[in-house]
Amino acid sequence: MSNGVDSRSSKVAKSALIVPLVQPSVEQMLTAMHQAARMGADMVECRFDYLTNLPTYQELENLIKSRPEGIGIIATCRPTRQGGKFTGNENDRISILSSAAQAGADYIDIEMDVPESSWPDGKIILSHHDFTSKPANLQEIFNKLDASRATVNKIVFKATSPEDAIEALNLIGKSAKPTIALAMGEPGLMSRILAAKFNAFGTFAAMEKGLESAPGQPTVEEMKTLYRWDAINSETLVYGVIGCPIAHSMSPAVHNAAFAAGGINAVYLPLRIEAGGENFNRFMDAAIAADWLDLRGLSITIPHKENAIAYLGEENCDELSRQIGAINTIAIAPDGSLRGINTDYAAAIDALCSAMRIKPAELAGREVAVIGAGGVARAIVAALAHYKAKITIYNRTFQRAEKLAKEFGCLALPLEKVEQISHEIVINCTSIGMFPNVDESVLTEEVLSRVRVVFDTVYNPPRTRLLELAEKAGCLTVSGVEMFVNQAAGQFEFWLGVPAPRELIKKTVLDRLNISS
Ligand code: NAP
Repeated sequence: MSNGVDSRSSKVAKSALIVPLVQPSVEQMLTAMHQAARMGADMVECRFDYLTNLPTYQELENLIKSRPEGIGIIATCRPTRQGGKFTGNENDRISILSSAAQAGADYIDIEMDVPESSWPDGKIILSHHDFTSKPANLQEIFNKLDASRATVNKIVFKATSPEDAIEALNLIGKSAKPTIALAMGEPGLMSRILAAKFNAFGTFAAMEKGLESAPGQPTVEEMKTLYRWDAINSETLVYGVIGCPIAHSMSPAVHNAAFAAGGINAVYLPLRIEAGGENFNRFMDAAIAADWLDLRGLSITIPHKENAIAYLGEENCDELSRQIGAINTIAIAPDGSLRGINTDYAAAIDALCSAMRIKPAELAGREVAVIGAGGVARAIVAALAHYKAKITIYNRTFQRAEKLAKEFGCLALPLEKVEQISHEIVINCTSIGMFPNVDESVLTEEVLSRVRVVFDTVYNPPRTRLLELAEKAGCLTVSGVEMFVNQAAGQFEFWLGVPAPRELIKKTVLDRLNISS
């Protein structure tokens, strides 16, 4: 590791999962503290600034003395100037913290703008928060924290992109003492989950949605079941999905479940990167330069599939990906070299051919109607053309269909002409019928009665209206779920070189879509 990151491992035995308690009364805080302990928290942060009334010493002492066994307590009373809720005077604020220290709180969080002469006795977490952006003088602020006599450094700022999270993680590596360094908001999520890999003092997780004390905090359940918190250590390899939006991606659930089932020491994260090649490039440059991050693989989704192939260079991607002009998977070697593939086309062809019980080469000469001319249609048309199928492309925006058809030597027709379809195979590559418009179908039952095989790439819902009508019309049907499972399995196998747990992946997808397999 190139930046002395490994020295961090001696700083704390294990990163703490810290649950902020943001209840309005001391009594509710105590109940929540016990609930947090049952959920598996290591520490709680009592956010006294959320209390409706100033607590008495007796109340504080009762709260702290009634803690569940083994639970550490951080006392915090954040003023509004640092993003907290406390609006009272500074003397009262410091007095609450001093009382908490006296009553037995393990750590007292003090903002770095408080003069040292006012610090309560006890172990101090010296903190700085910026809820608006990453401070321009981040390093300077951090150096001050690290040089202070406080026990723990804490720096938290708003992220605009995951590379801000990488910067936060790097601070942990450079620190002389236990550190919390977090990038807030969805783009910063990586800093929260990987805190355990870099042996941060801790990370914060909300007891449930709505009880976050800062933007981007996952819940305890998400940390433990989705993001494998308890399994993360300094050897954990990092994977993720780049896209925007990304919050509802099923990929983290799918790949983390697959890693867990295979006993693979890896974690998979959502990485929100705004549209634009420059944003994609900036993240990739930062991630590859940070070799200590152990980033080994990326899934790429909308709107970055074309940016990804441009970043890697066509020479680092397979032949069909080059023709498609987009990749959805990157493997990163320990030396930072990159290889890209597109698992979408093979996923679609496998789904279709295994349902038809034919080999891909047997697609040659078969009549296929592809409806849609977007990214998925492009990957499928390229693959079908490769196997010499006879393709007709139908699209709402006819010029788009024409352009795609010209490139791959197919026929193009406007969407209205789908009424005339009588091809052996039909593939829907539009979003028609996708949740929430689940009653829509791009084709009628009458048209479908002239078709043999219907493949809907839409996977939410798994059984679309189109597939229901196709079944009624006696067609062989193929669900977008099969394609989704195949593309995820293809990524897993490309990264790890071992067979993917396909059944588990399918179950995870269907569970996420609330359907039992
Ligand atoms: P895209 O690039 O945005 O293309 C969308 C396509 O749908 C375009 O052809 C568009 O026509 C057409 N379209 C959208 N709304 C329409 C409407 N109301 N009426 C007629 N045509 C409409 O999206 P994509 O990445 O290709 O994704 C397409 C679909 O594939 C998604 O909806 C998703 O369900 C599915 N998908 C499946 C998987 C899987 O693994 N199973 C993976 C990714 C995506 P215009 O050109 O006229 O706009």
